[in-house]
Amino acid sequence: MRQGSFDMIDLEALVREAHDELSGVADRGKVADYIPELGKVDPRKFAIAVATLDGRCVTAGDAQDAFSIQSISKVFALALALGKVGDALWKRVGREPSGTAFNSIVQLEHEKGIPRNPFINAGAIVVSDVILAGHRPREAIGEILRFVRVAANDDSVSIDPAVARSEQDHGYRNAALANYMRAFGNMQNPVELTLGVYFHQCAIEMSCVQLANAGLFLANSGRDPRTGISVVSKERARRINALMLMCGHYDGSGDFAYKVGFPGKSGVGGGILAIVPGRASIAVWSPGLDAQGNSKLGTRVLERIAHQTGWSIFGV
Ligand code: GLN
Repeated sequence: MRQGSFDMIDLEALVREAHDELSGVADRGKVADYIPELGKVDPRKFAIAVATLDGRCVTAGDAQDAFSIQSISKVFALALALGKVGDALWKRVGREPSGTAFNSIVQLEHEKGIPRNPFINAGAIVVSDVILAGHRPREAIGEILRFVRVAANDDSVSIDPAVARSEQDHGYRNAALANYMRAFGNMQNPVELTLGVYFHQCAIEMSCVQLANAGLFLANSGRDPRTGISVVSKERARRINALMLMCGHYDGSGDFAYKVGFPGKSGVGGGILAIVPGRASIAVWSPGLDAQGNSKLGTRVLERIAHQTGWSIFGV
């Protein structure tokens, strides 16, 4: 049993064993194919990266392989939009768990075009609209990518144009959400331009190493522990973590908090970014998804890491 103080944990062995033991799990869920390009991924891919505040990054499996981060990008886009407009964002997006699927439209009618939170698609599209304001789509996309590169401290992070195009060609639901919100006056830019920003943001590709590094500022009160750069304020980091905990896994958020106990954000590419405040930023990747669209094996790995390290935001 490796529970105990941080220094007592043999993180290398723990991560390696988690990878080796869970590699044998056959039931890994279903790879998303509603964006056809995502359906091409090898379902056996499996990676773990744990970046700690002291600058280490412990990895296992395909941790250097880039994958589509999809909705994990919504964390970075939210941080960027809050930097632009601050609390004014909350006039256009809520801060409550939705209890509905990531791409659901049902609440928007009752709630007059104000999405429940910034991590469901409707909310993230509003965030894209905020980032686009006053810019051309190309500039807004560049700004999001720059933010992610700074957070990761890695200029090689890029966008997969084939995924962006595939999303654009099949984004009927997202187009419906954006148009519906437009009807309520909650879109400031032409819908197709905002969607272009949103699709490109979702098509950012990163490895687990890059992603774990990019999450470090959220584990360290807003500051990158390696560079000392303040990415967001301490208060904002806490609030983003709170939103990740409550809303980061859609209608699976409660279950994730119960099983894992860290703020986390999933994406339909099969990645999950989990934040352990004061300790680490963890990225896992396995493309198969559960019924809520969250990585099935990824959740199991995080559950195991939480159990074995004793890390949790709910107690020591
Ligand atoms: N780009 C995806 C979509 O809009 C993101 C969804 C997700 O990762 N949950 O459907």
